[in-house]
Amino acid sequence: MKIMGFYKSTMLDYPDHIASAIFTRQCNYRCPYCHNGDLVLENSDQWDIDETQVIAHLEKRKDILEGLVISGGEPTLSKGLVPFIEKVKALGMKVKLDTNGTNPEMLQSLIEKNQVDYIAMDVKNSLDKYPETAGVSSIDKANILKSIDLIVHSGIDHEFRTTIIKEFHEKHDIINMAGMIKGAKAYYLQQYEPSEKMLAKGPFHFYTVEEMATFKSAIEQYHYVSKVEIRGRF
Ligand code: SF4
Repeated sequence: MKIMGFYKSTMLDYPDHIASAIFTRQCNYRCPYCHNGDLVLENSDQWDIDETQVIAHLEKRKDILEGLVISGGEPTLSKGLVPFIEKVKALGMKVKLDTNGTNPEMLQSLIEKNQVDYIAMDVKNSLDKYPETAGVSSIDKANILKSIDLIVHSGIDHEFRTTIIKEFHEKHDIINMAGMIKGAKAYYLQQYEPSEKMLAKGPFHFYTVEEMATFKSAIEQYHYVSKVEIRGRF
């Protein structure tokens, strides 16, 4: 599996768990505001990390670590994902998978085989705005909706999250997205933060904490999801 980033220990990426995190190469989206341009554009081999190094670290620190976060890029594009997860699970580790939801077949297989313990899926925008927000000419909307349905009804811990950007999202989009994930355990509205590694240079703008709070309140009135939280720059 192509691994381009490795955090040996993080308390931020897997809710309520101490975990390691890896970042896989490749993505089938080109979100203009993506912070992981190096991973997405596949323009360098210099950070490739051998998966045996990751497994060895998990084995060595399994008294402290509770799980592994597999992020990207889009991890479900990695051919070696399933055998790699099998090695991680064999150590007794939990696995959290971050995904853009474009590969429901892979998600279904992982869920059915109990190979993931937490799934975090990005919801980019209202379906009609998905292509511009994901930076691609067209998307398979059915796959996005199928992934959402699988995750919501999986019985495993999960979250959906959206990076909210003024140039892409209006209040009605945010309410639409909450409706798309009806029944979900958690929805995180992530405040956009500029980065030098962005795929496009923008300019893009973030909503203030107060504005984000009004979006949160608007969603809560509909009772689509169990929990709405803001992740932000504060
Ligand atoms: S933000 Fe978009 S382009 Fe970047 S890794 Fe996620 S889905 Fe891919």
